[in-house]
Amino acid sequence: MSFTTLGLSSSLLDVLSGKNYTKPYPIQQAAIPAILNGKDVLGIASTGSGKTASFVLPLLTNLQGDLVIKNRHVTVLVLVPTRELAVQVQEVFYTFGSGLPKPVKSMAVYGGVSINPQMIGLQGVNVLVATPGRLLELVESKAVHLSGIKTLVLDEADKMLNLGFKEEMNRIFALLPKKRQNLLFSATLSDDLNNINQFLLHDPLVIKIAAETNTIDLINQVAYSVEEERKGPLLRYLIKTNDWQQVLVFTSSAYKADAVADKLVKNGLGAEAIHSKKSQRARTEALRQFKSGDIQVLVTTDLLARGIDIEFLPCVINYELPRSPKDYIHRIGRTGRAESAGEAISLIAPDDEHHFKIIQKKMGKQVNRIETAELILRGY
Ligand code: AMP
Repeated sequence: MSFTTLGLSSSLLDVLSGKNYTKPYPIQQAAIPAILNGKDVLGIASTGSGKTASFVLPLLTNLQGDLVIKNRHVTVLVLVPTRELAVQVQEVFYTFGSGLPKPVKSMAVYGGVSINPQMIGLQGVNVLVATPGRLLELVESKAVHLSGIKTLVLDEADKMLNLGFKEEMNRIFALLPKKRQNLLFSATLSDDLNNINQFLLHDPLVIKIAAETNTIDLINQVAYSVEEERKGPLLRYLIKTNDWQQVLVFTSSAYKADAVADKLVKNGLGAEAIHSKKSQRARTEALRQFKSGDIQVLVTTDLLARGIDIEFLPCVINYELPRSPKDYIHRIGRTGRAESAGEAISLIAPDDEHHFKIIQKKMGKQVNRIETAELILRGY
């Protein structure tokens, strides 16, 4: 199947071929025609499945037919859980939407940065990608009006609930016109989310994409048995001897992320830590440098485990294991993306053994093990 049969506008098809989007991913095949027809959609799919383009492309086509520019009244609202995801989704709208005959103006708004530039920037915006708290602040200060919303998208809805945005989401829903299209994407379906689905979605097309299990098969998972105090030297040994140019390292706390990044830098590796205790500016800059290859190692907490798409990330390392097996899968899902193979490494100290067993059981997969007791790590 090619994109040409899905009903997208011809100018958008031209942009797609320039971006190497040659054939639609399964979620796109299912969602694009439905969204073009104004249907509600429930997509059970995670980052990596191509879900962003599955709503961006048809919404841009729909906007070409009816691009209303009423000042500070946005037409499409995308709610996302994190600032990073807001920026990433807006980039996809920008990539495909800015060169169209009727250019679509999109903007990302999120907390943790000054509100004034966002208030000014909201002039003439058609598509707003927002985290819930900042959106409500902007609505309260009348910088944006939601009464003209035609389509509401909830992206990573499960994460939004996990982060405690339920009350804000309900306040936002109450501000929207009753008649509208609703698109909801989530990696998992909890009872809480089912309640939202039932109240929000009308006769939705349900699409389930088992992207994570497919992706997991693409990932080469390896676990290294190592004493806790040798984790740092082993990490540096692995990065240096394998000459990995782009490595994402996960720790369990912001404090640990800083400590690991500091040690990497002291040992001559380009590294930065990003976590919720850093300013938004520092987070954005570190992510930009990592994506562009200016720094080799990014050390983070589960803040980045979901939602962030870094194309062709070759290697992810669990310096410390996440608490939940689901987060393990999300973390390693940062590699093996877009149908390319990746490497996911876990450093397992004796105290981690029991928890790692549980993770493997939940995943239904035994991870290959390498012993490191004999490995000489002096000098790393
Ligand atoms: P997402 O799940 O939306 O985060 O997308 C995952 C990655 O797949 C992103 O890097 C997209 O640019 C890429 N992608 C999405 N759809 C396609 C497609 N049809 N062809 C090629 N790449 C795609």
